[in-house]
Amino acid sequence: MHKKPNILLIYTGGTIGMIKNFETGALSNFNFDDLLKHIPELKLLDCEIDTHSFDSPIDSSNMNPEYWKQLVTIIEDGYNDFDGFVVLHGSDTMSYTASALSFMLENLAKPVLFTGSQLPIGDLRTDAKENLITTIQLASQRGKDGPVIKEVGLYFEYKLYRANRTTKINAEHFEAFASLNYPALAESGVHLDIDKRALLKVGKDTVLKVHKELESNIVLVKMFPGITKETITHIFSYQGMKGLVLETYGSGNLTTEPWFLDALKGLLKRNIPVINITQCAGGSVAMGHYETSTAMKKMGIISGKDITTEAAITKLMYLLKQDIPVSEFKHAFETSLRGEMS
Ligand code: ASP
Repeated sequence: MHKKPNILLIYTGGTIGMIKNFETGALSNFNFDDLLKHIPELKLLDCEIDTHSFDSPIDSSNMNPEYWKQLVTIIEDGYNDFDGFVVLHGSDTMSYTASALSFMLENLAKPVLFTGSQLPIGDLRTDAKENLITTIQLASQRGKDGPVIKEVGLYFEYKLYRANRTTKINAEHFEAFASLNYPALAESGVHLDIDKRALLKVGKDTVLKVHKELESNIVLVKMFPGITKETITHIFSYQGMKGLVLETYGSGNLTTEPWFLDALKGLLKRNIPVINITQCAGGSVAMGHYETSTAMKKMGIISGKDITTEAAITKLMYLLKQDIPVSEFKHAFETSLRGEMS
């Protein structure tokens, strides 16, 4: 172990790293090497900080699996040299990236904590400083057996969450994220209060396994009353589709109209896994609870239980590249891999 925790701060882009040009009023990315100049408080932290910036930082709306690959490679390359990783990322797709990384980094035994902000770091009322400083402090926490947090987390507005449990819920409030189906891992008040019972338990002497291949040919359909047979037929006939995530109502309920159920059966015949997740922000799918989900249960539709849309999408992308036989895919998806479902 190093004397002081050694943290790698990775900058991908997003509002946090933008600075207002006082003449033009426009927001642009600042030179990441100047970070210390903008946040002199970082020097007061009891850890060493190294930085790594994407060559061209991006607004996270442009995020994609190629960038996720870049990110896990940076973490893989620095894994033995650093005690923890802090990723600065735009808030718009942060939950997707952080969920994806939770699956791509198997046997993670160090903290990989995401944060960002709603206002740029140079703004007088910025939320960036608190988010950044506390995230670095959380990533630096060490116990007897090394880092306290051994999973991918997301810190925003005084709370650290398990990343694959989060969703961006507000485009304006500083409290931009929620984790409705799992408690916060830590809260920042006068003290940094880490809920050790909520943290992911990691086996001793685990070796990091990095998965870089993800399947992007998947489809997400959000149901709404009135969706037409033509629309569904058109989407489901896409021959490249490798998997479908279906956002259904309430506890996993759906229209019982025969044309829709037949369309689902058609996908299953083509060995395309179909995941049932709920449109509700909180709670779980429970197929069979209502008659409107019984047919799906009988058919062998996969239950996403209480998973978020972000985690369902990225878990599906990950599992589809794991060479899992069709007969075992349902079991594999319904098993919690990184604490993403209850
Ligand atoms: N559009 C920005 C992004 O996601 C918003 C933010 O950083 O909060 O990159």
